[in-house]
Amino acid sequence: MYPKLIENLIEQLVKLPGVGRRSAERMVYWFLKQSNEDVKAFANSVVQLKEGLRFCRRCNNLSEADICLVCADANRDQKMMCVVESPKDLLAIERTGSFKGLYYVLLGVISPAEGRGPEDLNIQKLLMRVREEGITEVVIATDPDTEGEMTALHLTRELKASGTRVSRIGLGIPVGSSLEFADLSTLSMSMSSRRTLTE
Ligand SMILES: [Zn+2]
Repeated sequence: MYPKLIENLIEQLVKLPGVGRRSAERMVYWFLKQSNEDVKAFANSVVQLKEGLRFCRRCNNLSEADICLVCADANRDQKMMCVVESPKDLLAIERTGSFKGLYYVLLGVISPAEGRGPEDLNIQKLLMRVREEGITEVVIATDPDTEGEMTALHLTRELKASGTRVSRIGLGIPVGSSLEFADLSTLSMSMSSRRTLTE
């Protein structure tokens, strides 16, 4: 029905989250109305996103440099560490302004259903940092769903030998939900009401 070039772009656009065929068609017509330069700038920024970003060598957050902006900030509490599942969760906590320490991004969770065990998470790197940097408290901020709780339990066991205090973000976030969708005040409260798991 459409020229092949339009059909090609629609096929790509419907892969985006929340984009159906109707919206994809509208986007195609929007692109057609833009100048050549604007469309090129748009396409380039998508390409550069993948080429220019990497995982922070220290915490696995998304970064343009070897070390991310959070890790590079000397004003942060260098003895507190928050463990999250993804860079999106790190961002969600950063938005609340309720945590001033460092992070460790797991880039996943333990999920027997999807065949992912503890060995698939880079926990050794986390343990090494806690030891070498003398971290005094690790706040586990994985999602309050089955996989997140399972991961938190495993991390607590692994961290026990390090002698650091381990805590878990607390009240407010509904069980089974995801950190990144929690509103600012809920997430902020959750951080301040964290409970200690080990001393
Ligand atoms: Zn970092």
